[in-house]
Amino acid sequence: MVQAYGSAAALLSVHSTTDPVVCIRPRTLVAAAREIVATFPGDVLYAVKCNDEPLVLRALWAGGVREFDTASIAEVRRVREFLPEARCHFMHPVKSPEAVAEAYRDHGVRRFVFDHADELAKVVAATGRANDLELFVRLAVPGDGAVLALTGKFGCSPDEAVALLRAARAVAREVGLTFHVGSQCVEPRAFARAIAMAADVAGRAGGIDHLDVGGGFPAAYTGDEPSFGSFAGVIRDAVRGHGLRCHLQCEPGRALVATGASVLARVELRRGRSLYLNDGVYGNLAELKWIGPHFPMRVVRDRPRAAALEAFDLFGPTCDSIDSMPGPHWLPADVQQGEWLEVGMMGAYSNALRTGFNGFHDSRVAVVNDPPWYVGVANAPPPPVARAA
Ligand SMILES: *Cc1c(COP(=O)(O)O)cnc(C)c1O
Repeated sequence: MVQAYGSAAALLSVHSTTDPVVCIRPRTLVAAAREIVATFPGDVLYAVKCNDEPLVLRALWAGGVREFDTASIAEVRRVREFLPEARCHFMHPVKSPEAVAEAYRDHGVRRFVFDHADELAKVVAATGRANDLELFVRLAVPGDGAVLALTGKFGCSPDEAVALLRAARAVAREVGLTFHVGSQCVEPRAFARAIAMAADVAGRAGGIDHLDVGGGFPAAYTGDEPSFGSFAGVIRDAVRGHGLRCHLQCEPGRALVATGASVLARVELRRGRSLYLNDGVYGNLAELKWIGPHFPMRVVRDRPRAAALEAFDLFGPTCDSIDSMPGPHWLPADVQQGEWLEVGMMGAYSNALRTGFNGFHDSRVAVVNDPPWYVGVANAPPPPVARAA
């Protein structure tokens, strides 16, 4: 049973832990889910890889998410275990035949993605030539507007997509197109461009029943990111503008869960402006390296002292030099060994990416019920001191 606390400080005061703690805020997750479900002009599928913690899955369900973008049979089983009424869609373009067969037979999965003719044949064969498949072709699109581009691995060209859609039409009950503009995409026009490509393919292929605009919607790490609503508006306008008449869905990961958790990590050594933590790139904090030093953070103290902020570099506990999270991370100048940092906006790609490398496998999960102090708080330098003219 996961224990619940009033705040991260309350957790640390009653529980002596030496391991990092992921502090899940279910109320925040429910609110984020409600907002995105209400704003998107179609169905919202949660991309399970972003955070598959049962507390997170249940909170999203409570917030109205009913469909899940799963990429492995283990994700399908996990969602169905905790949310038996959930609908799973197998949105990974390369699957094992055994996974396809089990998903179809035991978990009611009908929607599958492919980007190659051999994968289409595999899905058809592994489902026993089922007559109720919903088959989606993954189209490759540019990754320009994204902090983490996802190009070069999945997706086919527009010409290939036209041919694959026609082939799918011959065997499927419904067909669709899908794409992913890249993660932490801060450019709504990236969706408009991808929808224009999809509309062209759909027209040449004789129409589609579904358009899946993928994930990539940004979390508000710096505060400069456009809102989910502005993306939804651009998507609605683009779909309308191209005269696409089909069912719409999206697959957010990060945008649904980023605000829903923080991570507690202890300072094991301070060397000048370098802090060595018990958590890092191989633990819960990989995104501090890949997204950059944009995460709000504070030192957990009973009585905050009025210390000036200084820029720090952070290091994780393993012996690998990759395990570094270069700053500037702004923290009180008097932070010391033994103190705990709380890093906010850590609901996405945190515990999901943990490894046990170098023996640092222990990490805990707790529920924390205070409002998230870190939403709308940038990890930014202190404002410049006003000088008299
Ligand atoms: C990872 C992934 C997502 C979620 O991406 P976010 O950037 O977290 O929104 C959605 N769809 C697919 C196919 C993915 O691989």
